[in-house]
Amino acid sequence: MTPHDPPIFRFAPSPNGRLHLGHARSALLNQEFARRAGGRLLLRIEDIDLERCRPAFVAGIVEDLAWLGFTWEEPVRRQSDHFEDYRDAAKRLRERNLLYPCFCSRRDVARCAAAKGGATTDPDGAPLYAGTCRSLPMREAERRIAAGEPHVWRLAMNRALDVAPRELGYSRFDADFRQESVPCTPSRWGDVVLVRKDTPTSYHLAVVVDDALQGVTHVVRGTDLEAATDLHVLLQALLRLPTPWYHHHALILDSGGGKLAKSRGSETLESLRARGWTPEMVRSAVRAGVP
Ligand code: GLU
Repeated sequence: MTPHDPPIFRFAPSPNGRLHLGHARSALLNQEFARRAGGRLLLRIEDIDLERCRPAFVAGIVEDLAWLGFTWEEPVRRQSDHFEDYRDAAKRLRERNLLYPCFCSRRDVARCAAAKGGATTDPDGAPLYAGTCRSLPMREAERRIAAGEPHVWRLAMNRALDVAPRELGYSRFDADFRQESVPCTPSRWGDVVLVRKDTPTSYHLAVVVDDALQGVTHVVRGTDLEAATDLHVLLQALLRLPTPWYHHHALILDSGGGKLAKSRGSETLESLRARGWTPEMVRSAVRAGVP
């Protein structure tokens, strides 16, 4: 069915809130695929954001998943326990001159993107970086870092594309594990941040490092992360890591057509449970794709 032995799947929520039906769809689809492929199923807690992630939300995720009947292997990998792995990956990219420090504030980035014209946002809608710090002399950058000036580390996209294989792509699989090749266009992310100010990685770097370290062969996640896969494939090539197969599932939308999210006040599994929903009702809602 798949060339991987044994196939390894993972569900990787961020504990910055309680789970909603969108998470349940991802978790249950991973479980379903893993069962059909005779594969392993992992749970990974993506808690790099120490400000927004809370231990209580981790406990809530575990409780909700257990209630749903989602089963996973122990130990659970928590990203905040593995910052060294991400520092090491960033160091490898830095040694190849593929990262540069950027001292611009968010406001600087937005202002320059607007002034530049053309495509001004990345696939997530964040302003594309105009490259102000890309050509800072190394000595000046080192002086500012030594002086404690806050900075992020950005991928030098053009340099990265120069050293990466010309044709980047990945295998997408469908509900029957039929596979087709998808070409990637990582350039649309521009000089993306790979090491944040507040934490020694970004989502993109951590997810790529962890999928490889955990031997993940099949990534099942929502279409909201489909564009990110192009960047992940580039990072895998730069770090010489294997590229898993990907399946991006449709999102469950709310009545206004928006994606479910804590920030939009989407109802949590905890609240549905308190209103008398059973795991079976969640499973049917998830299959039907309606909240
Ligand atoms: N932690 C991410 C999220 O909760 C998902 C990461 C992934 O599946 O690659 O949106």
